[in-house]
Amino acid sequence: MRKKKYDESLPDSSYDVIVVGAGLGGLGAACQLALSEKKVLLLEKHNVPGGYATSFVRGRFEFEGALHVLSDIGTEDNRGSLYEFFEELEIFPEKLKYKYVNEYYRSVFYDGYDVIMPLGVDTYFNKLIELFPDEREGIEKFKILAQKIREGFNYVASKGGKASPLSILIKHPWLARIGGLTLKDIFKRFFKNPRLMAVLAQIWGYDGLPPSQLNSLYFIITLMSLLRSSVFPMGRSHALTSCMINALKELGGEVRYNALVNRILVKNGRVSGVELLNGDVYRSKVVVSNVNPICTTMKMLPEDIVSDSYKRRIYAPKIGNSAFSVYLGLNAPPDKLGLTTHETFINATDDMDDMYQTVEKLETPKIIVAACYNHVSENISPPGTTQLVLTTIQMGNVWHSVPPDQYHRIKDEITNDMVSMVERTISPNLREYIEVLEAATPVTYYRYSKSMDGAIYGYTQSIMDSPMLRLGSRGAIPGLYLAGAWIGIGGGFSPAINSGRMAAAAYLEDLKKKRW
Ligand SMILES: Cc1cc2nc3c(=O)[nH]c(=O)nc-3n(C[C@H](O)[C@H](O)[C@H](O)COP(=O)(O)OP(=O)(O)OC[C@H]3O[C@@H](n4cnc5c(N)ncnc54)[C@H](O)[C@@H]3O)c2cc1C
Repeated sequence: MRKKKYDESLPDSSYDVIVVGAGLGGLGAACQLALSEKKVLLLEKHNVPGGYATSFVRGRFEFEGALHVLSDIGTEDNRGSLYEFFEELEIFPEKLKYKYVNEYYRSVFYDGYDVIMPLGVDTYFNKLIELFPDEREGIEKFKILAQKIREGFNYVASKGGKASPLSILIKHPWLARIGGLTLKDIFKRFFKNPRLMAVLAQIWGYDGLPPSQLNSLYFIITLMSLLRSSVFPMGRSHALTSCMINALKELGGEVRYNALVNRILVKNGRVSGVELLNGDVYRSKVVVSNVNPICTTMKMLPEDIVSDSYKRRIYAPKIGNSAFSVYLGLNAPPDKLGLTTHETFINATDDMDDMYQTVEKLETPKIIVAACYNHVSENISPPGTTQLVLTTIQMGNVWHSVPPDQYHRIKDEITNDMVSMVERTISPNLREYIEVLEAATPVTYYRYSKSMDGAIYGYTQSIMDSPMLRLGSRGAIPGLYLAGAWIGIGGGFSPAINSGRMAAAAYLEDLKKKRW
């Protein structure tokens, strides 16, 4: 039965918490709250959960929409926080299967340099020493630093957001010491060889900024977390989000799809519910929004309720990168196409600042990653075929000035350039095998998720926006909490899920302390 329009006579809290958006942040929050026996309603504008964590079908191929590798699962004997959460939700070990990725990445350069970097902390750094023996001392020192950072991060994570700044400073001084440094600042102290720096920093192609701008904490945390273990879920990220939805429902949570939330309702200065675009109203004193904080604050709340200082806070950090992806269904197996690893980064040069220039322009990219999913999931495409996804990071705002009649021309040119980069380096006749091709620009990602500028990690992960300075879980008014890539430690699958769990923890703490 359809709910009535806004009605003052409805009980004040039909649900303990309403979660807006079933992206990973929203799912993390909803599941965590349901585990804490809260009555949760999850509202999603699409007819499927997941946000970016989704898949789509073209021809006889079902493409993974986003995930390359999932971090923070760890191993059976050394479980990551995501493993433990999925275990609590009874998703692991039975309901969601996954496969460990065999190697970290392959780095290929236009000058012919081609190397495969292994997983595992010791194996990875030993390989670097083998490749760059003259830099042994710096590599060993960098490894020790990275391990200290990882220990510090584990300490902070284990305290569930309750570690005091003083205790962090005393126990893990390196976190504070490098929190204000770029990756380039760190590299300058340890290394001389530009190729070593390009190979070691290779995953800047995920993080979205070159070492001269990238916060060293983000890089080291991502590096160490992926080195520990990288997995891919069987059934793609859609299987992962479906398992989370099922777990939520089993815990008594409710889910509504095709439910676009238009307004967060406010009574006496605090949250009182939400109103959908079609006028339906759901009441609750608490809302967790997985919609980006700018839209949540400026579009969904009444204009006059938000303080100027909070408005400045949400507009101050720079919006981070989106992506440009080319999804290819190829009618030949990977070995015939020279696709030897899951992840191959293709670099035009060692100069990462130069490569980054193209991220801020509508030009031929100078860095892409080619993900061949058949290496992590044998049955991901029909027998004898390959699923290959080419991705480059790209700022969404570069598309603002493109007139509609130029959109498809520019999109086709960049698509063509990215296929040419693969043909130039690892798979000479790739075009001959293309059966299906679909491209996604930052505009596509924006249209799908409504994340500002199609940003995939929220705000930039720059030196000005270290994990400690990022926007927190508490929103602009009492009763409003925020979840997703824009909040807390940053974007990516595991951080987005954890941001939802942090929003749940913040609400539960406020409830316990009767803060409002
Ligand atoms: C091409 C690509 C590759 C990536 N690769 C990786 C990778 O390998 N590893 C990794 O860790 N991360 C990767 N990411 C990043 C990762 O996918 C994101 O950081 C993460 O999914 C963000 O989750 P989120 O919950 O913040 O937001 P979103 O996914 O944007 O979810 C927001 C949800 O809210 C819904 N919504 C919005 N407005 C409303 C409204 N008004 N009412 C109701 N619902 C609403 C949306 O429909 C959506 O479901 C990749 C992303 C992309 C696009």
